[in-house]
Amino acid sequence: MRIDNLSHAIIFSAEEGSGSLPQALLLAKYILCINKTSSNKACGLCASCRKTRTYVHPDWHFVVPVNRSSSITHSRNPVTDDFLDAWREVLLENERITEQEWYQKINLENRQGAISVAEAGNLLNKLQYKPFEGGSRVVLIWLPERMHPAAANKLLKTLEEPASGTYFLLVSHRPDQLLPTIRSRCMHVQVSPEAQIAVPKEIRIQLEKLLDMCLSGKPSEVTQWAEDMAALKREEQKSFIHYTLQILRQYYMVHLGLPSLARLDTALQEKAQRYAIRMPESFFTHIAEQLNISAERLERHVNAKVLFTSLAFDFFLSLQR
Ligand SMILES: [Zn+2]
Repeated sequence: MRIDNLSHAIIFSAEEGSGSLPQALLLAKYILCINKTSSNKACGLCASCRKTRTYVHPDWHFVVPVNRSSSITHSRNPVTDDFLDAWREVLLENERITEQEWYQKINLENRQGAISVAEAGNLLNKLQYKPFEGGSRVVLIWLPERMHPAAANKLLKTLEEPASGTYFLLVSHRPDQLLPTIRSRCMHVQVSPEAQIAVPKEIRIQLEKLLDMCLSGKPSEVTQWAEDMAALKREEQKSFIHYTLQILRQYYMVHLGLPSLARLDTALQEKAQRYAIRMPESFFTHIAEQLNISAERLERHVNAKVLFTSLAFDFFLSLQR
């Protein structure tokens, strides 16, 4: 993978108990590996991989929600570092841990955890220094939806423009509860459930038609494509947008060189590869935004032909290098 293409802040989201944390861990290990294999995997053998395996790599920082607990004896605000041993145990034993299970593990009793301003300060403090091993650095934030707004404010600037080689991986169960300021600064990857997403064939065909048109640099057929889309029922139009977002998230994983995260079968993966390789990083963020805007406009019953023409030109323009 061309790691320099990787977005510096990525949110992995999936329902509690599903695969978002395992996938983020996999990506973190890959980022930190100093002997990356050609098959886009961490080598498992290098000095870095030996440390990431047991989660003791000094350039891998964790931020998780915590609170006062019976095991804390000091009086300052507790931070993740106070519970690091327990957190490492979790990572080794149960990567699909739920929020409540974590609070039980650290004896919060009935209290909820939070990511506090003290935590943000502690993290920024660590990030001031150069990475210990001189390579990349990863900050994994589990459940950023538990972040205090003041903590988020403190982190925004760093999240937006981290030092080169620093990657923020956020793992969220409730992305809808994330502060908009955080959400807007991150690339969003929705982790699909274990099963593949079944995209209706017609939708795949419509999308590929559009992509082929854009990638061949001939926008002349865009109007026809928009007319075809406008002739569909409103529900079909909505579902086109819904599935296109999902397909593009899969393409994004392929673009990053992490096809295993896209969970595609061989034929679809080859196809994804052909498209993804020609899609610039900016395409993914820009088009996801436009698709979300289009979905809202469809709800408000705007003219479908106008909407799909404008969407098609957005695709066209952002695919021209
Ligand atoms: Zn390695």
